[in-house]
Amino acid sequence: MTDQLSHRDGPRDECGVFGIFAPGHDVARLAYFALYALQHRGQESAGIATTDVGGNIMTLRDLGLVSQVFDEQKLRSLPGDLALGHVRYSTTGSSAWENAQPVYRSDHRELALAHNGNLINAVELHSELRERGVAFRSTSDSEIIAALLSTHEAEKIEDAVADILPRLQGAFSTVIMTPDKIVAFRDPNGVRPLALGMIGDRYCVASESCALDIIGARLLREIEPGEVVTIDAGGISTRMVIEGARKAFCVFEYIYFARPDSRISGTVLQGARGRMGEMLAREAPVDADLVIAVPDSGNPAARGYARASGLPQDDGFVKNRYVARTFIQPGQELRKHGLRLKFNPMPEIVDGQRLVVVDDSIVRGNTTRQIIQMLRDAGAKEVHLRITAPPIRHPCHYGIDMSTREEMIAHNRTQEEIAAELGADSLHFLTLAGVYEAIGVTRETHCDACFTGEYPIEGGRAAQDKHAFEHALPLIRA
Ligand code: SF4
Repeated sequence: MTDQLSHRDGPRDECGVFGIFAPGHDVARLAYFALYALQHRGQESAGIATTDVGGNIMTLRDLGLVSQVFDEQKLRSLPGDLALGHVRYSTTGSSAWENAQPVYRSDHRELALAHNGNLINAVELHSELRERGVAFRSTSDSEIIAALLSTHEAEKIEDAVADILPRLQGAFSTVIMTPDKIVAFRDPNGVRPLALGMIGDRYCVASESCALDIIGARLLREIEPGEVVTIDAGGISTRMVIEGARKAFCVFEYIYFARPDSRISGTVLQGARGRMGEMLAREAPVDADLVIAVPDSGNPAARGYARASGLPQDDGFVKNRYVARTFIQPGQELRKHGLRLKFNPMPEIVDGQRLVVVDDSIVRGNTTRQIIQMLRDAGAKEVHLRITAPPIRHPCHYGIDMSTREEMIAHNRTQEEIAAELGADSLHFLTLAGVYEAIGVTRETHCDACFTGEYPIEGGRAAQDKHAFEHALPLIRA
């Protein structure tokens, strides 16, 4: 896939997980629709595992979107009382089928596992398991967690989880399925989201509440950092394995990753993003004629900017919603129009206008540069770029692909230099204080390392250098 056609030039989405214990329900179908709602968290592979209580786990996973991997026949071939689901994004080159999830292992105990996050001490854990003679089928850090649990001698899976959880470093919102229960746990810092829901008198867990909405489940609460929740025939039980760690929820979930209709910490993200737009208008007003969004991620913030500034707002681009990952390359003749396959500017709207263009974030800047050029070609008189995140200058060690430092457009550049590099008349990045004010949360309980370089989770030297780490073992993120 070319850069021009890749899903976006921003931070890459991560993974989505789902688990349900619901005898009497069509659990594979519920998992399918939940994954469908979580598709924005990963477009590279999808998988569902099911089992009857006390039966054998069946897993079906493949490369592609949820709708490409599953059809009616495949869903019918997955009967059961429990289901586990996963959608995944990973860096290029790690897209092999073996890395699709759920991971299945049956060493000492049979289990399937779905993971969202990134282990920063994966290399150490991997060598320790290899020394114990444990074989691996994938290069995913998720299989390390699965292997630690599947080979564990403890009689109860929850005891195995409680034993290994303090040894895992990094981000891990994880759901496991054994033949008779679903066990969900979250890292002590709570970097990635994980929500608990209820459907009828049964329970389920999902990365985001939008996956609960689609299957008619009710959001009960979030799984707490360091908490282990069991869902089985007895209902629900919970234990806190690690309490009191510094909380470090990813602030980027609010800015871009999570769906706007998801609720996190009681906040609907659409509302938070609208307030980010309002903050942008307050921090960086500009004499302009029209506010437009880079669709769809910039939409709520563009509305917020227009609201706060009193400027009119319109659609400057039409987005083709069907440009997903495709294996058909555009070829030489069409390549120069690459981005137009996804965004087509509307000269009737932008011609002669001084535009405020609102987007959520910039990583490398290639797409943003082309967007600005397209607007100028369509007749825009001025382009003032407003971004609802601070400049990204540091890689993420907790499950998001941010490119390398050197590839980031904000690396060693001031705001003015970035504006010049992108061809914008002016540029403003929302301040970190503005981000937190818009969300209504504090820095002390969140991670903002990709903006500040202050990594909230202690880790080995490997965690400070993504590439040293990946060279040691070509691990992929979930
Ligand atoms: S480094 Fe950035 S993307 Fe990664 S967890 Fe922290 S805030 Fe989120």
